[in-house]
Amino acid sequence: MNKIIEETTKRLEQCLLLADETRLVSIGQNNLLQTSNLFQHCFDSKRVVVIADRNTFEAAGRIVNTNLCSENILSVEEPFLFLEQEFHADSKHLEAVRSCLAKTDAIPIAVGSGTINDLVKRAAFECQRPYMIIGTAASVDGYTSFGASIEVDGMKQTLTCSAPHIVLIDLKVLERAPQELNAAGYADLLAKIPAGADWILADKIGTESIHRIAWDIVQKPLRQWLSQPEGIARNDSDALCLLIEGLIMSGLAMQIAKTSRTASGAEHMFSHLWDNQHHTCQGKIPSHGFKVGIGSIAVSLLYEKVLALTTEEFSKSKQNIAATHRRWHEIEQAVHTNFGDGNLAEQVLEQSRQKYVDLPEIIRRFDVFLEHWDELKEELRYQLLPAATIREMLRKANAPSSPEEIGINHDRLLQSFGQAQLIRYRYNILDFVMETGHWELISSIIP
Ligand SMILES: [Zn+2]
Repeated sequence: MNKIIEETTKRLEQCLLLADETRLVSIGQNNLLQTSNLFQHCFDSKRVVVIADRNTFEAAGRIVNTNLCSENILSVEEPFLFLEQEFHADSKHLEAVRSCLAKTDAIPIAVGSGTINDLVKRAAFECQRPYMIIGTAASVDGYTSFGASIEVDGMKQTLTCSAPHIVLIDLKVLERAPQELNAAGYADLLAKIPAGADWILADKIGTESIHRIAWDIVQKPLRQWLSQPEGIARNDSDALCLLIEGLIMSGLAMQIAKTSRTASGAEHMFSHLWDNQHHTCQGKIPSHGFKVGIGSIAVSLLYEKVLALTTEEFSKSKQNIAATHRRWHEIEQAVHTNFGDGNLAEQVLEQSRQKYVDLPEIIRRFDVFLEHWDELKEELRYQLLPAATIREMLRKANAPSSPEEIGINHDRLLQSFGQAQLIRYRYNILDFVMETGHWELISSIIP
């Protein structure tokens, strides 16, 4: 085992002691051949089924299936394969996996990245079955998390599920994965930088306190994990090892803290928003990581504006806070203006309602920020990277580094700030500028 894999394995083993669902993570080279051993080590059941799509079956599933059959110890079902070239994690495909699982008591092994992963996680949960994941690209931090992103009635939702018992990553498979998938994972990991800043804000006002252990798991090694963007552009094994360690640790931190706050802030709201608007670019849906990467640039630009405010400038807006505070009927109106009157608007209204706070609470939050303004700015500066650096890191990793590359023009991006502020309860920089009367800062942002 090379030194980088050895060190990664050691750090993962330490982290696994704190996680309550995932028992084993194997990262190696050519370790697909250990699938059968790991499976037998963790599960009592002897029956197993591999779930993959055409591409991931060729990339890893076939070897895995052969390995499971090799010793005649396990009872191996016929692999369940999605044959469509493009498909999504939606109710229809979820039902297909669920009915496959319902036929036997086999434990599923998901072989794939985003979509297969989400479908198997949720279907296994609905069938009350443990499962194993074999990741085929360093594209998401969802391998070890407890949420599955599934489209229900046209809306992407994060549905509850259990985390996997075992995760296996063969770096040789990651090296052969399409580079844009690994670039997407890099962008999703880079998002933990602005997400951390948002958590600092939420912690200050006490809406979501920082979970110190989970924070340290993600934030302390984060810059090291992100240190080789050029390596990601080359699908280099060492760079991919660091990246996948970061993504897996991020999922484990979610398991430990029982929240995805560890991994997502306002930058993820942009991605959720564009998902729900069914945004496509040249006929394709940009990956989660690419959307989150552009969200990270947008949010970092906003942070730069906020951090430039002196105490005097910041405190001035308190005089207008009663005037700038949006009453519920104004928020309702904003939701309808931005999202129309259909299903999506109804869901956003529900989310906005959860977020709504009255004027006395807004004033309390303002006073907390004002009291700590200088030290808060220091803390945020330490946490954040300049937007130009974020953009450069994305560019080096061969991920989109301007909104136009994912089909979002300047006007659409500016509009997205306002729309993203209305969705999902998770205090972030968008709420901060809205509630403290500094929303106008957004209009001068040039991405
Ligand atoms: Zn993400």
